[in-house]
Amino acid sequence: MTKNDDCLFCKIIDGKIPSTKVYEDEKMLVFKDIEPKAKVHLLAIAKDHFKLLSEMDGQQAELVKYMLTKIPQIAKENGCENGYRIVINQGADAGQTVFHLHLHILGGEQLGW
Ligand code: 5GP
Ligand code: ZN
Repeated sequence: MTKNDDCLFCKIIDGKIPSTKVYEDEKMLVFKDIEPKAKVHLLAIAKDHFKLLSEMDGQQAELVKYMLTKIPQIAKENGCENGYRIVINQGADAGQTVFHLHLHILGGEQLGW
């Protein structure tokens, strides 16, 4: 798995920065967003460091697919029984601030659009 020493989310994976983890396996980690934008706001990351959705290769796409298959159960177990929204911010105009690909999982309440 590729790691980047300067990456905030790689540091969270390594436990160098604390986080509230809700799910972890050999390929992915899910933890609570530090500044939640909904009642439930989780971040799902692959343990392989890559920056952008637009730059992913086939292997990284498999990791995203893997995360998408795991998220329904994780969301359900964390207060999103009635649905949730998955968001990926791609690049500056979308407001991406952390350049380690992550999926936002938002729910736990009725979301506005
Ligand atoms: P982006 O804007 O890149 O799509 O999302 C980055 C997210 O990471 C933001 O929602 C922000 O609140 C969250 N975040 C930034 N720093 C930390 C941190 O140190 N710990 C946790 N748990 N979340 C963080
Ligand atoms: Zn990283």
